[in-house]
Amino acid sequence: MYSLPPQEADGIRERMREVRARITEACITSGRPETDVSLMAVTKTVSPEKINIALQEGADLIGENRVQELCEKILEINAAKSQIHFIGHLQTNKIRDIINRVSCVQSVDSLHLAGALSAAAVKAGINFPCLLEVNIGMEESKSGFSPDGVLGAAGEIAALPNLTLRGLMTVQPSEASRSGDDRYFKRMQELYLSLREQSLPNTRIDTLSMGMSGDYETAVRCGATLVRIGQGIFGARAKKTGTV
Ligand SMILES: *Cc1c(COP(=O)(O)O)cnc(C)c1O
Repeated sequence: MYSLPPQEADGIRERMREVRARITEACITSGRPETDVSLMAVTKTVSPEKINIALQEGADLIGENRVQELCEKILEINAAKSQIHFIGHLQTNKIRDIINRVSCVQSVDSLHLAGALSAAAVKAGINFPCLLEVNIGMEESKSGFSPDGVLGAAGEIAALPNLTLRGLMTVQPSEASRSGDDRYFKRMQELYLSLREQSLPNTRIDTLSMGMSGDYETAVRCGATLVRIGQGIFGARAKKTGTV
């Protein structure tokens, strides 16, 4: 089997250690225990060989955002001890392809999708954890619940059978990442705390998923419990050509 050049494998290991160290540092400076924050390795466009290096290095949570890519690569990665979460836009007709392959959908972006996931979970006889995606910058290019609408939607989704709402997820506007502006992450933290205070039945609100390679330290300082890192671990992705 094709294997990675040793320097590429070493690069992944080194970057993983660096990301972990920086998460720990951000936890310390904000007075949080480092065990508060989980690290997800985001593996979109990344080859199975590279993913396996991260898994060897102890990555226990992986995120993929395309159904077809997930289904192809899952056969070639040694993820028996790791969890896989889905983090991309999910069409309801693809639910059956992922429901037994991932342990959480972080990107529930409509009541329609939540209803369909619930129905699929009932049919499969499983209970399925999910996060609600918030379009915190109200950007046209992104899907998700509006900041003003997400708490109301959470009430309706909590009532659906066989789904367990675990919290919120967001991707903030890229200009905020570049400038270090933390107002979107602060707003997410407020929404997350309000959601916890609602104490909705059948929920277990313990996850605030925000922060990517360019802004994860800011996210940790604003209360993220899970950061999603792709390029910061695997190196720069080739520029996107077309669909996301
Ligand atoms: C690609 C992606 C990430 C990781 O982005 P990087 O900039 O590579 O760290 C995180 N979350 C989602 C939803 C993504 O699609």
